Amino acid sequence: MSAQIIDGKAVAAEIREQIGRDVAEFSAQSGVTPHLAAILVGDDPASAVYVRNKQRACENAGILSTLHRLPPETTQADLLDLIATLNADGDVHGILVQLPLPSQIDEQTVLDAVTPLKDVDCFHAENVGLMVQGRPRFLPCTPHGVQQLLIAAGTQVAGAHAVVLGRSEIVGKPMGMMLVQRGAAADATVTICHSRTKNLAEITRQADILIAAIGKANFVTADMVKPGAVVIDVGINRVDDKLVGDVDFEAVKEVASAITPVPGGVGPMTIAMLLRNTLTAAQLR
Ligand code: NDP
Repeated sequence: MSAQIIDGKAVAAEIREQIGRDVAEFSAQSGVTPHLAAILVGDDPASAVYVRNKQRACENAGILSTLHRLPPETTQADLLDLIATLNADGDVHGILVQLPLPSQIDEQTVLDAVTPLKDVDCFHAENVGLMVQGRPRFLPCTPHGVQQLLIAAGTQVAGAHAVVLGRSEIVGKPMGMMLVQRGAAADATVTICHSRTKNLAEITRQADILIAAIGKANFVTADMVKPGAVVIDVGINRVDDKLVGDVDFEAVKEVASAITPVPGGVGPMTIAMLLRNTLTAAQLR
């Protein structure tokens, strides 16, 4: 039997509508409009599209967004100056630095420079630490979006064996940390795999919930999936001008009980969660 397709676009649209209502209520009560400042360095076309989509989503939710576009040859010092200005600007609540940055700039130094109170991507060590300790200020957008999809799909996460493919700071590692917390869409038994993992397929076949975030097109094949598993595909890979995930969707959907498509799965959720964090940042002030 074919799997339930988890419609991330529809779930994200509902969440964005709710955030829009929450923003309106907050603004009416406080007189403050949440404001996200986005920084885009260079002219990578994919990054430009991501930033444009984030800005459009902000506008639709009643969040003010401003774009700081810097040339590809921008120095690290100039970028740090801009971040310092935005950190000090009381009218700016969230700061987003679109990655990747040009090679002359050290990403970690830049992300560390964003004040934790405006770190709506939840990349700062202070915010990651709070999240790991189970008292989050912000939740990282993509893993939080995955959790919301699991809730929307009615997945039993508590007690399930969740296997996360990938250990990046942006997706895999925080995903594992969030699934192991106490609470909704959590309380899982978690295994995090990476490129040094031995017997990968043996481990993925044990997963009740399999989350793929490795950036390799169609990597997860049907024989790597336990019948009835819930499969969440975070991957976004361009193949012949088409976007595909890390999961061989057509084959795996015949084995899984539920699966996210690419596009239209996790991607729209990431943006919705960014809006939520921007509202939270405005409320924190
Ligand atoms: P990274 O490249 O930072 O990390 C990839 C991870 O996958 C690494 O931990 C790596 O292991 C692991 N890996 C690579 N090859 C294998 C393999 N053969 N077997 C097991 N593990 C492997 O990627 P990101 O986490 O940033 O992104 C992952 C994917 O998700 C990408 O396609 C990206 O475009 C997409 N993405 C989608 C988002 C969305 O909103 N939908 C948001 C962010 C990312 P090791 O650490 O050992 O190198």
